[in-house]
Amino acid sequence: MAGIWIDIDIDAIAANYREVVKLVKPPARCMAVVKADAYGLGSVEVARTLAAEGCEAFAVTTVEEGLILRRHGINGIILVLGPALPQEWALALEEDLHLTVADAGVVFQLEQTCRNMSKKVQIHLKLETGMGRTGFGLQELEGLAELLLKSPHLEVAGVYTHFARAAQRDHEFTQRQYERFGAGVAALAGHGIVPGWKHVCNSGAFLDYPEYHHDFVRVGTLLIGHVPGPGFNDRLTLKDPWAAKTNILYVHRVPKGTHVGYQSIYKTKTETNLALIPAGYADGFGVVPHLVPQGGWDLVKIIIKNIASLFGLTLGKERIELQGRSVRVAGKIGMQLTVLDVGQVNCAPGDEVKIPLRRTLANPRLLRQYWRGGRIYAKRTLTEEGVFLVQAE
Ligand SMILES: *Cc1c(COP(=O)(O)O)cnc(C)c1O
Repeated sequence: MAGIWIDIDIDAIAANYREVVKLVKPPARCMAVVKADAYGLGSVEVARTLAAEGCEAFAVTTVEEGLILRRHGINGIILVLGPALPQEWALALEEDLHLTVADAGVVFQLEQTCRNMSKKVQIHLKLETGMGRTGFGLQELEGLAELLLKSPHLEVAGVYTHFARAAQRDHEFTQRQYERFGAGVAALAGHGIVPGWKHVCNSGAFLDYPEYHHDFVRVGTLLIGHVPGPGFNDRLTLKDPWAAKTNILYVHRVPKGTHVGYQSIYKTKTETNLALIPAGYADGFGVVPHLVPQGGWDLVKIIIKNIASLFGLTLGKERIELQGRSVRVAGKIGMQLTVLDVGQVNCAPGDEVKIPLRRTLANPRLLRQYWRGGRIYAKRTLTEEGVFLVQAE
């Protein structure tokens, strides 16, 4: 196999789910957040696994993500967190997706669509409490309630909000958001709207605030084996289901002073071996999300790292694991090809290399191999049409 593949240990995901469920405070249930292709692991296999473990509710960002789950046999609640466009409503209604309503302007039109289709829709009202992205402010709720009371096809299944700083454990901010949420829920009730469920917790708030669990906790990060930030580590035992791997394509012995790659930023310091791997930024290798420094010290670290990289140094950068040794990337990571300076580590074309690849940034077209009980039971590829194809082994 030439390219990158990703081994996913589905037993680890099931184990993580059981760890989470142990901490869910009844009557709350876990709504598994499987947006962005289940953070890169593959939403269909992850949702199937969680459903088999008893998970009854899932959350995604887009209608399309919800439809993928429905069409692969996920029967539970599927909540679309992002605002859906009017042209997506009919499909969402047909598949009984729950929709987020964050704007009073859509209520009338959504009611019309439902009436035309003779179908009711389950909606979740999103309250804006501090994230500043979407949702109703306190002063909008009276008008919203009036509209909802005139919309018999819209059933208010839930009301929710989203915490901006729970992963950073900014308790003051989170608590203030929660107070605003409470005020919003009370205001809605005062105007005759009592949603079925309340849900506010993401992974960070779920761990820190059992008293906020209400009817659902919306957990994503923990299920795929990460804690949301520092300081959460002792709360539960998580397993890492993810390993991205590739094979060495080519090995070449070079003299001291050889320049490697674009812009020649790397120069060998001794005679050494260079190994080529079929991995690059088109696969998501070496790509980083939009990271914002969290305070002055973090900013200094980022600046030092960037200056160091100008001189071809990699400070604290993840290394590549080869034959149990760690080797470094030589020069710039290319689009699809990258060179490793393997030094005296003995290796040959075909040898397996484990590479650091951020889950959410790993290209979805890369092969996912699903492992259960120590063997591969399914593989996922993308068809020519860009549709996920899951095939049993
Ligand atoms: C992504 C997301 C979550 C899950 O957050 P994690 O920290 O990954 O558990 C919960 N709620 C909303 C609205 C989200 O967008």
